[in-house]
Amino acid sequence: MGRLVILSGPSGVGKDTVIDAWTQADPRVERVVARTTREPRDHEVNGVDYVFLKPEHFLELVEQGFFLEYKKVFENYYGTPLVDMERILGEDRVAVLKIDVQGALSVMPLRPDAVTVFLLPPSDEELERRIIGRNTDTPESIAKRLGKAKDEIAQAHHYQHQIVNEDVEAVVQKLKDLTIE
Ligand code: 5GP
Repeated sequence: MGRLVILSGPSGVGKDTVIDAWTQADPRVERVVARTTREPRDHEVNGVDYVFLKPEHFLELVEQGFFLEYKKVFENYYGTPLVDMERILGEDRVAVLKIDVQGALSVMPLRPDAVTVFLLPPSDEELERRIIGRNTDTPESIAKRLGKAKDEIAQAHHYQHQIVNEDVEAVVQKLKDLTIE
């Protein structure tokens, strides 16, 4: 029946790097690409990082029951499409949801079979360095992300597993161990 993995962690902790490394190492693993109404960042590709939608279209999909969950984060909508998740699980593969804590807490009761993982930074200083070093956000947005990161880390105990992202390969190995049949 496949495995569902919910992966959360503060902005800048390295969720994308970990997921990319894991999907490259194991073709059974696929990230469920979220839909969002925010503008793409420079390096982002539509259909790969997110599917970018106009707000009207997003809200139409909400009406149609397209999302497992959706949330407004900062000024934008983000949602997890049900169809993609069900396809991956139907293929007996590993579906990875990269969602924020709010979203994860709403999915957990719906999907008690999910393996839930919270990715932690090696230290607060390292997280700040990574968020600032990313250099894609305005100072105001950086401040918001730092504030939200601290709030999110305080909720890591809701997850079955907390993994410190010191070394990407080591994190991927732990994720493999957690999803072995
Ligand atoms: P970003 O704009 O940095 O890509 O993402 C902002 C926040 O939205 C992150 O915390 C990210 O995990 C969260 N997010 C991305 N996709 C989804 C989703 O489908 N559902 C929910 N609830 N949060 C999401």
